[in-house]
Amino acid sequence: MTSAQHDPMNAEVSVALGEDFLDVREAVRRICKDYPGSYWRELDERRGYPTEFVNALTRSGFLGALIPEEYGGSGQPLRAAAVVLEEINASGCTASPAHAQMYIMGTLLRHGSEAQKRRYLPRIASGELRLQAFGVTEPTTGSDTTQLKTRAERRGDVYVVNGQKVWTSRALHSDLMLLLARTTPVDKVRKRTEGLSVFLVDLKDAAARGIKITPIKALINHNTTEVFFDNVEVPVENLIGEEGLGFRYILDGMNAERILVASECIGDGRWLLRKGVEYANERKVFGRMIGQNQGVQFPLAQAYAELEAADMIARRAAALFQAKRPCGADANMAKLLSAEATWHAAEATMQTYGGFGFAQEYDIERKWREVRIYRTAPISTNLILAYISEHVLGLPRSY
Ligand SMILES: Cc1cc2nc3c(=O)[nH]c(=O)nc-3n(C[C@H](O)[C@H](O)[C@H](O)COP(=O)(O)OP(=O)(O)OC[C@H]3O[C@@H](n4cnc5c(N)ncnc54)[C@H](O)[C@@H]3O)c2cc1C
Repeated sequence: MTSAQHDPMNAEVSVALGEDFLDVREAVRRICKDYPGSYWRELDERRGYPTEFVNALTRSGFLGALIPEEYGGSGQPLRAAAVVLEEINASGCTASPAHAQMYIMGTLLRHGSEAQKRRYLPRIASGELRLQAFGVTEPTTGSDTTQLKTRAERRGDVYVVNGQKVWTSRALHSDLMLLLARTTPVDKVRKRTEGLSVFLVDLKDAAARGIKITPIKALINHNTTEVFFDNVEVPVENLIGEEGLGFRYILDGMNAERILVASECIGDGRWLLRKGVEYANERKVFGRMIGQNQGVQFPLAQAYAELEAADMIARRAAALFQAKRPCGADANMAKLLSAEATWHAAEATMQTYGGFGFAQEYDIERKWREVRIYRTAPISTNLILAYISEHVLGLPRSY
């Protein structure tokens, strides 16, 4: 191993085992009880947004877990927020309609001015404002973020934004969007990571201001959209941090995002596995429970072992993050391993359910569709493997 970055053994951190943050887990479970499978099935059918569920979460204060107390949040450690997301999905609910607020807010918290923080964070914590939309991905550049084409040109007191984003989830259910746009053309910067900037874009009256938001019909109900910017004026005071340093700011938030998404994913894996095991212990074919067959048991057991391993790395990543130690490798591994483990749990449970896995009333097919996302977004498996290859193993950069 050549990188000093992946050096968790030297970090003075401790990792709690078992059900950590038990009071948080119990409180989240209580909220989730009111939103059974039928609630999510109905939303899935009409591609609706779980407004009531997100409102209940907001009222509980959990969505503001990472916002410091001085700005109206509860100032919890990252692991507490990860536990919230894990428990939501382990209860059969879906955290993705609200999860982005937890990690997007971090960019504002770390790099925003005091005035911006005072203006927005308390209202985000109270639920008055939703900061749920994250505009990074573009149709023509995909994972190659620094090549993005959306331009923000300074004209006096405003930046004028033109361009297009794709897969901007929750844009129709958010008051604000965190937008990454190019402020200096790529041929005028030394490194292509320079010249990108981050803005808080107000989505109120979007259409009247040149922002067109179009829903994308997708495999899952993710409320995701395409967003078009046509000469959209963004006040200079909505620039976060320094102009040109936006890529760095976004990267700064990625470890937290990976850790939170990994935990959410593990929650889904746990729910799916529980369903698979219950069914294997109930369903009788050939005069015995199907769970008696090793062909049914082993994929479930394999998924369990993988989920436990992913959970351990996710906890280690969160502990390193909290201790302000390098955690890029662990955060990426947690995301990678949880995505694979949960996909294996989904496949094992789908197979265990036989034909009934396809019936919507059991929620297996819906969760099976939903958990496929973790292998692609917010970062695809290959890009994580490329990160580990280069930054942990010291192999040549492959792209
Ligand atoms: C439901 C959904 C919600 C999303 N929400 C958001 C959001 O809110 N905000 C946002 O900004 N984005 C969002 N995304 C976008 C998501 O982050 C991207 O889809 C993802 O990062 C992959 O980018 P891409 O789709 O452009 O794939 P591409 O970059 O085109 O890649 C296609 C495939 O090629 C592989 N590949 C590309 N380059 C390499 C390489 N050098 N080596 C090996 N393999 C490579 C990738 O791993 C992938 O499998 C969302 C996507 C989905 C599907």
